[in-house]
Amino acid sequence: MTDRDHAGADMHALIAGLFPICRSITGNGVRRTLDILGQHVPLEVHEVPSGTPVFDWIVPREWNVRDAYIQSADGRRVVDFRQSNLHVVNYSLPVRARMSLAALRPHLFTRPDWPEVVPYRTSYYKETWGFCLSQRQLENLAEGEYEVVIDSSLEPGALTYGEYHLPGEIDDEVLFTCHICHPSLANDNLSAVAVAVWLARTLAARPGRRYSYRFLFIPGTIGSITWLARNEGSVARIKHGVVLAGLGAGEAFTYKKSRRGDAEIDRVVSHTLSHASRPFSVADFSPYGYDERQFCSPGFNLPVGCLMRTPNGQYREYHTSADDLQFVAPALLAESLETCVRIVDVLERNGRYVNTSPKCEPQLGRRGLYRSLGGEMDAASRELAMLWVLNLSDGGPALLDIAERSGLPFSAIAAAADDLTSHGLLKPVTDLT
Ligand code: ZN
Repeated sequence: MTDRDHAGADMHALIAGLFPICRSITGNGVRRTLDILGQHVPLEVHEVPSGTPVFDWIVPREWNVRDAYIQSADGRRVVDFRQSNLHVVNYSLPVRARMSLAALRPHLFTRPDWPEVVPYRTSYYKETWGFCLSQRQLENLAEGEYEVVIDSSLEPGALTYGEYHLPGEIDDEVLFTCHICHPSLANDNLSAVAVAVWLARTLAARPGRRYSYRFLFIPGTIGSITWLARNEGSVARIKHGVVLAGLGAGEAFTYKKSRRGDAEIDRVVSHTLSHASRPFSVADFSPYGYDERQFCSPGFNLPVGCLMRTPNGQYREYHTSADDLQFVAPALLAESLETCVRIVDVLERNGRYVNTSPKCEPQLGRRGLYRSLGGEMDAASRELAMLWVLNLSDGGPALLDIAERSGLPFSAIAAAADDLTSHGLLKPVTDLT
């Protein structure tokens, strides 16, 4: 197995370990999840008490569930939380009652268009209760009386999230964030949780990081609102950010740009995807989706985009029991990790240089820079990269600008800059803005 295969298999194994846990926006499922993630990266776990005001919101009461079922008169559990935590509507109030099927029906949710799957439903901000089941299960329920139990609690407690800060040479930060509030769903969003953990490990093992990195493992919406409310004074440090979501299924990547639309991160991700020779799409910002909605709210307007594969709601398995461990492919997880690492590579290396010999072209052959190594094609593109870097490096355009204008991959432009720098033909501009 290659390193890449290993990473894919390891991320899938992490997802498999997390999959059975019943998570929600608060509660012990989130804590257990962060405990497991903490075995891979040294997470700082924060507990924010229920009732804490966070901008226009209030940290909700904590929800925990121990058991839930619908039992028929003959004592059989016809819907059973122990078989899948998707069966209980997330954030359901506790219930213990006997009722007819007719009375129960308004509390039952199915997907009639896909009768085999159990849907995922939540009711965070409306006090109610319910069960999710397959349309097949529903059709098999006979009229009669049922015992209905949801052994849950909704009580003052805390909202829990995890944070990992990895310092670099400068305080400017790159933010990676992912939601950890979904129960047994694999692509949404354990896939991105696993990629974020492996990315954090990869970067932690690297010497000489320029940027500092911050990883957030937070419940969707209320988690990012809470984090922003608690960190309002230091968000100016975030120079680039990516929300990671749904990275384990679907062939093509989708990058949703920040609200700014022309932030460096938007250009870096677009460039990286365009040189990966795989299908991809880049979408403009919209105030619908994941936590980019909060990071890009007008009061913050941070340069934060969202990297996904097939976007939320646009694949059949989305928010159903079909988003399971088989749906998520180790090879796609590995490719997602690799893409994130490439994005970081561009951010780390992007900078401005000046040509120290700007009057006509310097003589590359004399310095051994002309057709000196590699195959014919490699040498040609390497030379082309050097010519572009020499021509445009007047202290204005940065390496990413040169990569975009030349149509060459950033890695080739950066390698050319290294070669030219080591031969004294290029000097970095240190007072980068
Ligand atoms: Zn979701």
